[in-house]
Amino acid sequence: MTTESNALHIYRTIKKMKLRKNMQFTSEVPSKKDYYKILIATILSQNTNDKNSISAFKRLDEKIGVEPNKILNAEINEIAEAIKIGGLYRVKAKKIKEATKEILTRLDGDLTKLANMEYEEARKLLLKISGIGDKTADILLLKMGHPAFPVDTHIKRITRRLGLVNRKAKYLEISEFWRKNLPSENYLDAHLELIAFGRKICKSINPRCNICPLRDTCHYYGEEYGKEGNIKQ
Ligand code: SF4
Repeated sequence: MTTESNALHIYRTIKKMKLRKNMQFTSEVPSKKDYYKILIATILSQNTNDKNSISAFKRLDEKIGVEPNKILNAEINEIAEAIKIGGLYRVKAKKIKEATKEILTRLDGDLTKLANMEYEEARKLLLKISGIGDKTADILLLKMGHPAFPVDTHIKRITRRLGLVNRKAKYLEISEFWRKNLPSENYLDAHLELIAFGRKICKSINPRCNICPLRDTCHYYGEEYGKEGNIKQ
C-alpha cells in the first residue's frame, strides 16, 4: 500500500468507528467565522481537557467578552479569574492578553486578513505572535480554509505508533505526513477523527489494541505483541 492510500485507509477505518459521538472539541465552540474567538478558545484548550476549556471560554465571554478591544482593556487578573476553571490560568491570561495586543498592532485586530493571504505567509505571521505555536496556528489556518493539518498529542502518538513516521518525528514532520497523504478537503474531519481515536482507542496508557481495526498494520502492536497478536482481551 502506498503511504497515500495507507493514510486514506486509516482515516476511513477510524471514521467508520463513529467515535466522535457526544464528543466536544473546544475549537468547534465559537462560530466558524469568528477567528479571534477560535484563537482564544484554542489557547484555552492548551494542556486542558475540552470540558474545562469550553467552560473557561464561556465564562470569559460572559465576564469580559471575547473581542480584541474588550480583552485589551481588561486586567490580566480579571482574565485569569474568568478562565480559572481551565487550568494554567495565569499563564493563559498573559498569553491571551499578549496575543491580543499583537493582533491589534500587526493586523488591526482583524484576523480575517490572514484568510486572504498565502498559506505560508499567514502561517509565518501567526507564529510571530506570542502565545501562538504550531498547533494553535494550524487550527486557526485550517478553520480559515488554508491547507493546514494541526497535530495534537493524540495525533502525534497515533502517527508514530502506526509507523507512519519515525518514532521520534516532531510536529512538522507529522503534520506534513497527513498534508501530503490526505486530500485537503478531509484535513479538518481527519484531524477530529484522529483525536477521537486517540481519546477512546489508541490511548497513551493501555491502548485498546484488542478492539483496534488497525492492529494488522500497526508497528507498535507488532513490536509489543508479535505477529501472532498474543494480546490479553
Ligand atoms: S493497534 Fe494499538 S497501538 Fe496500534 S493504532 Fe491500534 S490501538 Fe493504537
